[in-house]
Amino acid sequence: MEKKKEYFLEKYSRQIIMGQIGIDGQKKISNSSIAIVGCGGLGTSAAQYLSMSGVGNITLIDHDSVALSNLNRQTLFTEKDIGKSKCMVLSRRIKSINESIELCHYQKKITNRNINQYLGKPSIILDCTDNFESRFIINKFCHSEKKILISAALQNFDIQAFIFSSWSDNTNPCYKCIFPNLKNDANLSCDDMGIVASVAGLGGLIQANLALNYILKLRNNFKEFILFDCLNFDIKKIVVSKNKNCQECN
Ligand SMILES: [Zn+2]
Repeated sequence: MEKKKEYFLEKYSRQIIMGQIGIDGQKKISNSSIAIVGCGGLGTSAAQYLSMSGVGNITLIDHDSVALSNLNRQTLFTEKDIGKSKCMVLSRRIKSINESIELCHYQKKITNRNINQYLGKPSIILDCTDNFESRFIINKFCHSEKKILISAALQNFDIQAFIFSSWSDNTNPCYKCIFPNLKNDANLSCDDMGIVASVAGLGGLIQANLALNYILKLRNNFKEFILFDCLNFDIKKIVVSKNKNCQECN
C-alpha cells in the first residue's frame, strides 16, 4: 500500500506540486471517467495526454482500422498497426503509458440505439469524430443524460473547440444551437479537407486540457466557442448562448 502511494506521488509529482492541483486535485483526476469517441487525430492525442495525466478510467470507441494515411497525425500508431483496430491498438499503447488505468474499447460506430451501452458510465464525453451524424447523436445523448461534452473539429490550420453543459443552465448552448442547419452528410473529414499533422494533435490537446480544467474545477465557461488559427496564432473566444429555437436542448 505504501509503495503504491509512493508511486502515485512520484509519477504525478509535477502536477501535485502545483497549488491549483495538489493531492486532492490529482485524486479527482484519478477518479474521473472519460469516453473518447473517435480514435483519429483528435482522439489519439487526447487519449495520450489524459492517460499520462492520470485519468483513472478511459473508454475508447472507433469502428475503423489503422490506415497508412492516418500515420501523419494519429499519434501512437505505427506502420506495424496498419489494418488493426484503432481502439484496440490505442488501448494497448495507453496501458503501457499508465498500467493502473481502467480501459474499455469498442470497435463500434455510435448509433442512437447503442450509445447508452457504450457511453452510459463515463461522465465526460470527448467527441473526436469526423462526421455530423455522429456529432448530433452524441450531442443529443449528452444533453438528455447530463454528460459533459467536449467537442473539437479541425480543418487545415484551424481548430474549433467547445465544452458543453447544455443541461446544467437554461442559457448554456448545445452543439446543435451552434450548428442548427447542418445536415448529417455535411463534410467534416480530414480525408477530404486536409489537415496539418501538428494541428490535429493540438486539437486533441485542447480537448484534454478542457477536460482537466473541468475535473479540477479550475475554469469552465460553457458559453465559449474557441477558434484557434494555428497559422497566424490567433485565438478567438466567441460567447454563444442557448438558441431558444433549438429543438435539441429546449
Ligand atoms: Zn441546443
